[in-house]
Amino acid sequence: MITPAPATDGRGFFMPELPEVECLARALREEMLGGQVTSVTFLRKDLREAMPMDVIRAALVGAPLRRVWRRSKYLLMETEYGTAILHLGMSGQLLSMDGPTPVKTHTHVIFGLKRKGSSAAPQNDDGGARNVYLHFIDPRRFGRLTAVPAGTDLSAHPWFKDLGPEPLDVTGEALANHLWQASRGRSVAVKAFIMNGAMVVGVGNIYASESLFLAGIRPARAAGRVTRVEYGVLAESIQKVLAAAIGAGGTSFRDYLHSDGSEGSYALQLNVYGRTGQVCRKCLGPVREMRHSNRATFFCGACQK
Ligand SMILES: [Zn+2]
Repeated sequence: MITPAPATDGRGFFMPELPEVECLARALREEMLGGQVTSVTFLRKDLREAMPMDVIRAALVGAPLRRVWRRSKYLLMETEYGTAILHLGMSGQLLSMDGPTPVKTHTHVIFGLKRKGSSAAPQNDDGGARNVYLHFIDPRRFGRLTAVPAGTDLSAHPWFKDLGPEPLDVTGEALANHLWQASRGRSVAVKAFIMNGAMVVGVGNIYASESLFLAGIRPARAAGRVTRVEYGVLAESIQKVLAAAIGAGGTSFRDYLHSDGSEGSYALQLNVYGRTGQVCRKCLGPVREMRHSNRATFFCGACQK
C-alpha cells in the first residue's frame, strides 16, 4: 500500500473536500444529535466575510440539534429555530472538546452543547448531561459561517442556488446524462468541467484526477468531445472514488473532530494523484503531471485517451 501525500494547498494546510465534510457530518450526528445548543461564542467578527452573530445565535441557542448534514462542502446544523451553515474553507477544523478552553490561536467560534444524558456517557454534575464544546479553528480564515431562520428555502440561498447536483444522491445514469448534456459544445477541459461546482459538486482535484484515470479519459480533453458512453463510465468512477474516500474517512483529513485522534486515514489507494514519475498501476508506464489553471493534474498517457 502506497501512502499518498496529504492534500494540501502547497503551504502545508489540508483542504477539506466532500468526503471529509461528509465524514465530519456523520461524526457530528453520532456525537451531537439531540444535544441542546447552549451557547455560540465568537472570538472574532469575521472569517471570509462578516458572521451574522445574532442570526447564528438565534438559529441555534436554546434548542436541540435535530439534524446535521452536508450539501457540497457545507456543513448544516439545524434546530427548530433555524439552520447554521458552515464551510471549513481551506484550513478549517472542528474540534470536539470538553470545555470552552483551551482556546487555540486560530479558534474563532465555539459552539457549546449539552449532550443528551446516557448511562454510558460520563456524568457531570449538571444534571446527567455532558457538555461538549465544538471549536471552529481556521488559521487562514477562508471559512464561512452564517445561519437562516427555520422555514428558509435553502436551495435559493446565495451559497447554494448555483450548485450542481450531489454526485452521490443521483444514479450514475442521471449524473452521466446531466454531465453529457451540460457539456455539449463546451471546449473547457473535462477535468475543469467536472471540478466546476455548478456542474456537479464535490469533485476536488484529487477526485477529478482519480475519476478520469478510472474512466480512461485524458484530463485535458474538451468536455464537449467526451461521449455519452464515456460520461457513463466517468459518472460511475466519480461515485466510486468519492464513496471509497468517504469509506476511508477522507483522504486528507488529519483530525476533524477529536484533537486526539480519529486520524483521517490515508488508506484510499490513489492511482495517479501525487504519483508523478511512478509506475501506472494498470500499464506500468510512467504517471505524468501537467499544470492546468495553476493546479497539478496527474494522468497516465497510455491509459487515458
Ligand atoms: Zn497506464
